Amino acid sequence: MAFPNIVASWYTTFSLMLLATATSFSPAATRACSALKHSFPTKTFSPKDDDYTLAYNHSWSKTCVLPPTCVFEPTTAQDVSTALKIVEKFAAHFAVRSGGHMPVPGAASIQDGVLISLSKIDQVDLNPDGTATIGTGLRWFEVYEELSKQGLAVAGGRFGDVGVGGLLLGGGVSHFGPQYGWSANCVTRYEIVLAGGRVLDVTKESSPDLFWALKGGLNNYGIVTRFTLKTFPLTDVYGGAVIYDPSRFDDFVKAVAFYSTPEGGMSDSLSAIEPVMAFVPSSGLIQGGTFLFHQGSDAAPSSLANFTAIPANQSDASVRSYPSFVNDTLTPEFNSYASRQLYFTVSLKACPQSVFLVNNTFAPMAFSSALLKKVSGFTTTINHQPMPLSWIEAAQAAGGDTLDLDPAAGPFIIVGISSFWDNAEDDDAVFSFHKVATKAIVTAAEKEGLNYPFLYVNDADPVQKPFQFYGKGKSLPKMRTIAKKYDPAGVFHTLQHGIWSLF
Ligand SMILES: Cc1cc2nc3c(=O)[nH]c(=O)nc-3n(C[C@H](O)[C@H](O)[C@H](O)COP(=O)(O)OP(=O)(O)OC[C@H]3O[C@@H](n4cnc5c(N)ncnc54)[C@H](O)[C@@H]3O)c2cc1C
Repeated sequence: MAFPNIVASWYTTFSLMLLATATSFSPAATRACSALKHSFPTKTFSPKDDDYTLAYNHSWSKTCVLPPTCVFEPTTAQDVSTALKIVEKFAAHFAVRSGGHMPVPGAASIQDGVLISLSKIDQVDLNPDGTATIGTGLRWFEVYEELSKQGLAVAGGRFGDVGVGGLLLGGGVSHFGPQYGWSANCVTRYEIVLAGGRVLDVTKESSPDLFWALKGGLNNYGIVTRFTLKTFPLTDVYGGAVIYDPSRFDDFVKAVAFYSTPEGGMSDSLSAIEPVMAFVPSSGLIQGGTFLFHQGSDAAPSSLANFTAIPANQSDASVRSYPSFVNDTLTPEFNSYASRQLYFTVSLKACPQSVFLVNNTFAPMAFSSALLKKVSGFTTTINHQPMPLSWIEAAQAAGGDTLDLDPAAGPFIIVGISSFWDNAEDDDAVFSFHKVATKAIVTAAEKEGLNYPFLYVNDADPVQKPFQFYGKGKSLPKMRTIAKKYDPAGVFHTLQHGIWSLF
């Protein structure tokens, strides 16, 4: 389906200026890359190799396309182990990437150092106990396709192109979250390569501390090569993208607000929405659209009735297989690698006032800035992710995680703020806008008693320091202790980019 003009503005051309200005590389990284090339001649790519650019280029946001000294593409945990020993020996800096979807420069990219790109660790194996072991380098649409052949599904990413590794290590918002909690709560085993190169199988029984820390602790403990997840029977779903005319924006916001009440649509644990409110300061355009999801073959789920009642400009919502629904998120309309992108997040208590407060605070700020009107290709969006109580309870029932949400604090909404634009010269202006707008939303929410002090790491910017909110501040000291136990030399906090460091 065609997405509206609003999103078409995301697809602007962009020149890879960074490549043209590629810098010289440090001796440590150069030596590590030579050693890697020696040990793995077909898996290591330096700038003179044809596959080098291809290997590092695949980042969701152009802000993350940084030229590494070399790219190493392991195919096994043993490869990763050898590579870690090499980077440690030469004290070379490194970054780790699975799907490359995190729009944070340096989180899974590096300008001078080794990029360990895990995309070739890409197998799906079904286990006799019904769990599935999946390689970190896969993208979710590949996982769903493969498992559907066995009539199974897992609670993974909603956008098919997102990588397995980052989503599962950061938590994971899936369509099935209201039933199973974070995607990470469905992981029963991790294959991880620790500092020093030790390969470890981590289960709740074998290493309960590390098992807990990996549920939300991102890249602070080692390089995870494979995840074992609980599966469940695949069913048909009602799902699709719905885009509304700008004249229907207020109706759309009201539908989101109603859905976000504890007794609204989100009390139906089979349903999910991904509403996006988009603002284009240069043209004044405001437009809304959402993915609708309901598990099962009900073609008119009542929990989504407020959305389906609004006449849509475009809609492809229908009953179909889950992989078919997710595959639709792979179309160019939703999958642009052409722009620069930035994510920030805040959280508010789940109620209609929160939805209105966010919009009423954010929209005037986006439209009143003369600077933003001049930013080429600039669209900014607000995304509301309602988090029902059933989600929080399911996460606890599954054994908990570092995010450690408290059911007593009630349901809430994760609000994602994301922007898209064309040119590096505007990076600072967009970043400043995100900081100021986010602060204004938090301040307004605090004033109204609507703030929910939690930031989801996979939607956050590093300046927001999300880990300090986990478990109401109780998780971070534990996460640090566990990191010191499994990585006493601090390899993952010194040699790896410190973007999400616990310290
Ligand atoms: C279009 C879009 C849609 C999204 N949809 C969702 C969604 O539905 N639900 C949701 O929860 N989030 C979503 N996100 C956020 C997404 O989950 C995070 O950006 C996630 O980190 C991406 O995973 P990745 O493997 O592609 O990440 P990458 O960019 O490759 O990595 C992200 C971080 O994880 C680390 N990492 C990755 N793999 C490993 C590993 N195997 N071992 C150690 N560290 C590792 C990297 O070092 C990096 O710091 C979305 C993001 C985008 C841009």
